[in-house]
Amino acid sequence: MKESKRSPGSEWLKNHPRLLELAYDSSKVLLKRFYPLLKRVNQRATERFMIWSEKRVKGYTFNCQMCGQCILHSTGMTCPMNCPKNLRNGPCGGVRANGHCEVIPEMPCVWVQAFERSQMMGAYSHEIKLLQPPVNRQLQDGSSWINMLEGVDQQTPPGWTPVKDLTD
Ligand code: SF4
Repeated sequence: MKESKRSPGSEWLKNHPRLLELAYDSSKVLLKRFYPLLKRVNQRATERFMIWSEKRVKGYTFNCQMCGQCILHSTGMTCPMNCPKNLRNGPCGGVRANGHCEVIPEMPCVWVQAFERSQMMGAYSHEIKLLQPPVNRQLQDGSSWINMLEGVDQQTPPGWTPVKDLTD
């Protein structure tokens, strides 16, 4: 099913990743400032609120699958977990000639969209070239914002070094 059918309006937003990039940067600044205070006041309630709001806001906009380790800004503000193969590095070798998915032929390839949208971004456009570590399923259904603020999403499995820039 086309994402625009699932979430009316979200396709327009995703096709304007520069706006989403600004929203991402602003949210990050605000959260970095207020999270320590909110955590001191009530850690459990803060966590519940963050999960609740991520499910709604990111669920609507990105069809977020709550993987708990968000890399949207590195993937053209296109959620990689919408790829039927859940690839964190893509595309696979099966992209059709029309740029659609080999598993769901009527769906545009998430990674083709990610690349095209990344080229419309400002500060983060180069991050599409980063080699992402495997997704940590233990973080599923948690708050990716909290995992980012706590540095949990930066922990890589044994044998992996943190995200590597392929342009080096
Ligand atoms: S990368 Fe993970 S946290 Fe980010 S939108 Fe996709 S499923 Fe949600």
